Formats: sequence, C-alpha cells, structure tokens
Amino acid sequence: MAKGSTQSRRLGRGPRGRVSATCGTKRPAPAAPPPPTPATLFGSRRPLLLSRLRVPAGWKVAVVAPHPDDFDAIGVTLRMLHARGVDVHLCVLSSGAHGVEDAFCSPPLPELKARIRLMEQRDSCRFFGLPPERVIFLRLSEGADGELLESALSLNRLRAHLEELQPHLLFLPHDNDTNAGHRRAGAMVRAIVDGWARPVALLWNEDPKTVALRRDALMPFGEAEAQWKSRLLRFHASQQARNLRTRGRGFDERILEANRRSLKALKDQLPAVQALYAETFELHVRAVAPAPVSRPPPAAAPAGPPDSPARAGPRSP
Ligand SMILES: [Zn+2]
Repeated sequence: MAKGSTQSRRLGRGPRGRVSATCGTKRPAPAAPPPPTPATLFGSRRPLLLSRLRVPAGWKVAVVAPHPDDFDAIGVTLRMLHARGVDVHLCVLSSGAHGVEDAFCSPPLPELKARIRLMEQRDSCRFFGLPPERVIFLRLSEGADGELLESALSLNRLRAHLEELQPHLLFLPHDNDTNAGHRRAGAMVRAIVDGWARPVALLWNEDPKTVALRRDALMPFGEAEAQWKSRLLRFHASQQARNLRTRGRGFDERILEANRRSLKALKDQLPAVQALYAETFELHVRAVAPAPVSRPPPAAAPAGPPDSPARAGPRSP
C-alpha cells in the first residue's frame, strides 16, 4: 500500500482536499491573515514604536541620503531592521564635498573631498554590516552652493534607481529643513513616488536642522545603542572635525543630543518607554487607489414605455 494513502486515512482530508489534523471533522482551517503591505503595516496608533513593528523579512528598505552621513543619523532604526532580515539599501545622492573644510585635506580639491566622504561612508557601512553591493553613490549634479541640484537628469537617475529597487519602505531626511540638499532630495522623491502605482511608506526622519515635523513614529534607545551609534557617526571624521571646530562639539554629540530632545518631546505620550534617546519620523503611507474597474457594456434595456427612466439615453435619430 502506498504510504500516502495510509497517511490520508489517519489525518483525514478536509474540504478542497486539504489535510486536516483532526480526523473526521470537516471544519476548514481558519484563513491566515493576509500578509501586510506598506499600506497596512503601520495601523493607526500614533506615536508608533518602530521596534514593535513586524516588518516582514525580505522587504526592501531604501535609504535616500542627500549627503554621505544621513544614513548614520538613523542608524539605530536601520540596524534593528537589518537584524530582522529586512534588506536595507543605501543611495547617497551628492558628494558632500562642500562639507569638508579645506584644512581637513591637502590639496583641498573638491574631488579629493568627495573621495574622503565616500570612504567615510563606506567605512561606516562596513562597521554597520551593510554589504557593499547595497550601497550606491549616485553623485548627482550639485549647484553653486555645493548642494544637490534639482534637474531632470538627476530626477531620472534617482527614479531609475528606486524603480529598479521597488522598496516597501523609504527613509529620507524631512524636507521641512534649513538644509537645501534635504529640501531638494525631498522634492525629487515626492515627484517620483507620486507616479507609482504600488503602495510605499515614506519615513521622513528628524534631523538637527529639521524646522518642524509630526512625530508619528519613533525608535527609542538607551545608552548601549547610543555608544554604538556614536562609533558609527565618528567614521565621518571630516564632519566630526568640522563640528568640533565650528560648534564646539562632535558630530556624534550633535546627533545624539537631537535624539535626546526628540524623546523628551514624546515622553508625556509614552510614559512607559524606558529610553534616553529616540530617532523620530513623520510617516506618510501611500496606499494606491484600486485600479478602475472596467465595466461591461450596459445590458439591453428592458422593454417599457417610451422615455421611461430605464430607457433614458441617446435616442436614435
Ligand atoms: Zn544631510
């Protein structure tokens, strides 16, 4: 006798031929909940703790970084996602050369400064554990101010990259910001995702230069993660040096101080959260409207008196 038939008798077969563990019952197994989508994942609770979010492993996250250090500013959130098997991809838009002081390199040429910033970002990603093939430097055009320049060519290059990646979640600095690079990157991303026919969630992160944002979601963290993040941020040695000289404190201290303020701003709403810092985000979920249903042509109107409502419509001449 075939093995399969013995097993079928012992377990029984439910409706549609499905094997049921309870012999003799015909109750169908409860339907599994549908898998989340970027439109359903976040629910309606605000502020939302990102650490409690069940982002499916294998989902793709795009980090759109106007500068080579914006990734690190939300390093704790990205580390949590990366550890859970989410595919994190970094796309750095500009060289960030203008952020390197002349005294930091010799000769103080833009191309050397750009090279320094690229190496700093690569080193921080290596420390983070991000595979090199998930990091791309687009080197989009820069204006006279050294910041990203909005142009059709830049828009098309970023669009091509994001459309190839097809991310479920997209992280980028909030564009309500005094930094022109953040504003221009935000404008380009908005223009791109507005044309998408699939859902995507945008998480606009708070930065020390953000003017204002709605704190919809947060990733709280404590001292151990802060020390790890400090090490990550210090790979950007050119920014550490510039901040120390111009602001009297390091790049890492500046970011962590902003994270401390962000948590403080939410503390009253989350009294049970035991943390010292938080990376905070404004959430925009783009749930795409269902495609229009193509309607069949109207059935032939039933017979009735002339000009009855059922026959209203164009008349034959
Ligand atoms: Zn930036």
